Amino acid sequence: MIGVLSRDSEARTVQEFFQLFKTPWEFYTPRKKYDLLIATQDELPEDIHANAMVIYQSHAIETDGQMGIVVASPQKGGWLEWQDIEIPVYGDFSILQLSGRPLIRRRRTSDIVGGMVGGSERPTVRIGFDLFSEVAFLLSQGQPAENAQIPTLDLHISLLQAIMDSLEVTYIEVPPVPQGYDFMGCLTHDVDFVGVRDHKFDHTMWGFLYRSTMGSLAKTLTGRLSWSKCLRNWLAALSLPLVHLGTNKDFWLEFDRYSEIERECGSTYFFLPFKDVAGTLGETSAPKRRAAKYDLAETKEEITKLLQDGCEIGLHGIDAWRDIESARAERSRLFEVTGRADLGARMHWLYWKEGSPKTLQDAGFTYDSSFGYNNAIGFRAGTTQVFCPLVADYLLELPMNIQDSALFYSDRMKLTEDEALSACKDIIRTMRGLGGTLTVNWHTRSLSPERLWGDFYIELLKEIRTYRVWFGTGQEIVEWFRKRRELTFDSVCFEENGAQVTLGSSARHSEASFVVRIHNSGTVTDMPIYTDCR
Ligand SMILES: [Zn+2]
Repeated sequence: MIGVLSRDSEARTVQEFFQLFKTPWEFYTPRKKYDLLIATQDELPEDIHANAMVIYQSHAIETDGQMGIVVASPQKGGWLEWQDIEIPVYGDFSILQLSGRPLIRRRRTSDIVGGMVGGSERPTVRIGFDLFSEVAFLLSQGQPAENAQIPTLDLHISLLQAIMDSLEVTYIEVPPVPQGYDFMGCLTHDVDFVGVRDHKFDHTMWGFLYRSTMGSLAKTLTGRLSWSKCLRNWLAALSLPLVHLGTNKDFWLEFDRYSEIERECGSTYFFLPFKDVAGTLGETSAPKRRAAKYDLAETKEEITKLLQDGCEIGLHGIDAWRDIESARAERSRLFEVTGRADLGARMHWLYWKEGSPKTLQDAGFTYDSSFGYNNAIGFRAGTTQVFCPLVADYLLELPMNIQDSALFYSDRMKLTEDEALSACKDIIRTMRGLGGTLTVNWHTRSLSPERLWGDFYIELLKEIRTYRVWFGTGQEIVEWFRKRRELTFDSVCFEENGAQVTLGSSARHSEASFVVRIHNSGTVTDMPIYTDCR
């Protein structure tokens, strides 16, 4: 068992860290014996009973002198590397002089930032940064878009595991993926628009006409769009008056096509609650064009059909991220139409502030899926896992990883389809090694003219399906993680060639299958387990 001797201010972060690295641990109790002690306090007690120790600390502490470690003055933010893995740190770190084997260096230098401590009382590793400050930063602010593709928090877990291996600590964990799968997949759709018919002589209509005609031509001439797609866009633009007259089908209404493409993957649709409400940003109102032009009540037929098909309906929040009254009003509006009380949410345009998870939780939402980027794809929190934001205690965050508009918009990543597919493949490969959930947001309008991102979406799904992926709605995936969070390690007993593990779970009649992974002297063994009701 791991004992953690952390600062009081770190307690909540420590708890969350060990929900992501699901392994037996507890806060340090004096005189109790631990396999490993993780220490982040400035002063360490004299009589520690632990077989091994890891100290994370960005500045010099008293113990350093006793262990013959020299700590240079801290610097803020930088890149480190261990083995061949590069990892950014966002807070302070310092260069160490120590007599044992180096483990972590500043990238492309010989400067040591972590290593074994020679000649100490017990096998000890000293690391020159603050693990839990890094974790707190990632889970609350999130990392900058330029590092989006790095699963930084998960790398911190891997680094700790590598250290535990080199300290010969035997331990078990429950990895963040159901038995028999590489990772989980969550296909989501923000419903910013329902039909092009809702838009008469407004910003959206003129924008559509420009992009489908001149914009398409320019893209085709520069090789970024095929002539056949260009032609489809022109025909769509020409047919617009007939769509408004009601004689032609509204080409933005493509819920059926999503059902066809996704084939019972259990998609999640986020609908805007109010028509003509742009919402607020800071002290002023948000741009007018942020407002929905459809009325939720008039989409009831589509919503009923989606629910019948096993899809989930969530809130695409306007002001819910901002204050509890708005969050409650938007939630009850969704409830009126769907009749479902357990609602998840994603904010329109990803509007957000640090207190938003608490606001949404207090308004009764079970999860949020806004933590992602508008201008990048990847891992804003640095983890592939569903987590509980530090300001909340029940609501879970399902991070958003891949968003269509981030890939293709000319003022965002502006990728060609080939470049976009290769960027997505990188993310998917990362998922495979780590487990967790890949959440994709493809706007409902994106299959239709003038975007025509349907072929790409089919390619992307094909790529995802080359792995063993458990698809679920937002709610289903969040529930899986909730059950994993509730697991307790009642007893763990290592034997010569295995381990006896008793897990406790408060989840009744759970069918979710977990794996117990045993790490013993560098070898890793997976054991499937099933939870029974207690
Ligand atoms: Zn939106």
